[in-house]
Amino acid sequence: MGSPASSRVEQIQTKCCIVGAGPAGMMLGFLLARASVDAVVLEKHGDFLRDFRGDTIHPSTLQVMHELGLLEEFLKRPHNELRELDGQIGDERVTIADFSHLPTQCKFIAFMPQWDFLNFIAEQGKRYPTFHLMMETEGTDLIEEGGGVVGVHAQSRRGPLEIRADLVVATDGRHSAMRARAGFEIMDLGAPMDVLWMRISRKPGDPVQSLGHVEAGCFLITLDRGDYWQCAFLIRKGSFAEFQRRGMEAFHRELVKLAPYLSDRIEELKDWKQVSLLSVTVDRLRTWCCRGLLCIGDSAHAMSPIGGVGINLAIQDAIATANALAMRLREGNVDLEALREVQRRREFPTRMTQGIQLFIQNRFISRVLSGNQRLRLPLFLKLARRWPILRRIPARVVGIGFRPEHVRTPEALPAHSS
Ligand SMILES: Cc1cc2nc3c(=O)[nH]c(=O)nc-3n(C[C@H](O)[C@H](O)[C@H](O)COP(=O)(O)OP(=O)(O)OC[C@H]3O[C@@H](n4cnc5c(N)ncnc54)[C@H](O)[C@@H]3O)c2cc1C
Repeated sequence: MGSPASSRVEQIQTKCCIVGAGPAGMMLGFLLARASVDAVVLEKHGDFLRDFRGDTIHPSTLQVMHELGLLEEFLKRPHNELRELDGQIGDERVTIADFSHLPTQCKFIAFMPQWDFLNFIAEQGKRYPTFHLMMETEGTDLIEEGGGVVGVHAQSRRGPLEIRADLVVATDGRHSAMRARAGFEIMDLGAPMDVLWMRISRKPGDPVQSLGHVEAGCFLITLDRGDYWQCAFLIRKGSFAEFQRRGMEAFHRELVKLAPYLSDRIEELKDWKQVSLLSVTVDRLRTWCCRGLLCIGDSAHAMSPIGGVGINLAIQDAIATANALAMRLREGNVDLEALREVQRRREFPTRMTQGIQLFIQNRFISRVLSGNQRLRLPLFLKLARRWPILRRIPARVVGIGFRPEHVRTPEALPAHSS
């Protein structure tokens, strides 16, 4: 990375400019730097401390950590291990997925707040001299020349920046400014729900993490974050104002109906300011790339929270991108065909995963949230109760996914000791 300080707009030259330091961007920056490719990762926020980013680190991601020799160190961070995925549907408690038979090093989902995961990758990245993470630096526009993208305009606290790169990778999430600037066509696949996101304290004696509590008309997911429950309450898309109109007490009743153990502390929720509305989007780009620019992660395909697989998919995209492009970036020959290759490789798992998410959204979640049909156990769960071996199927889809990626990039330079 070079940066002549003379002009007012700071100029930076790099091999790969990655816009957005979520799971996709951080993993890609780390893998490229590890393979001795100069990479600049831009993150518009000053830290990773936004609590609505999901907590799940899947067996396939843990497998990648193992392949990178980082698993032991990673699992020293506080986390919970979920070996079975249970749900409470009406009066029936069911096991949906059993991870204990997966052909992976870790046969569980690790629950760890995403900021801990991203901080861990940032620490590992800093061991390589070609890793440059620029916090509080927002990619504002693409630099286009000769019919292709050749860099990014950005704004940091120090002032404007012009980052010139052989390749720009947009990992700026589902509201990606970079994909909008490129004018890529977005296929909106639809989502019938939004999520209300709030914390309620956790006490000894509370049930172990179960994840889903479902009743006709409502759906609650509870994530164990040590001394509090991170609660995700699914509502019909656009119905938040209705809940607010009905009032906080009515909302308390809905929550306690699903999780009675919260009744002695539900009053902690006093104000709607404690409840964030997270809008769910499911979409996919028709084309993920043009000359000099590639979109991956949610920027290429916004995922529904169903199955908690978005982080996993974003990381898998990053691995496939590094595998396909690291050597080409080093040699300076990334052409459009190489970028299309990444889309071809990752489009299949994306389509399959989104297809399953849409099926569950339309066949189960929509019915539950409409509240006017008697709640019945889905056929698959009835069968899985009878033949537990069937629980291995959702475990495989959620825990590993389709076409799992393995790190093929070499560790080209010895790392600094951290
Ligand atoms: C309500 C909800 C709950 C979810 N829960 C889960 C879950 O439990 N498990 C799971 O696996 N998935 C979950 N998902 C999906 C998951 O959050 C995403 O699929 C995943 O985070 C995508 O990772 P990413 O790196 O592509 O993008 P993101 O995680 O969105 O990261 C994008 C990053 O880019 C930064 N950025 C944005 N614009 C710019 C810019 N112009 N310049 C610089 N930086 C920028 C952002 O600040 C952010 O840090 C959930 C989604 C929703 C909507």
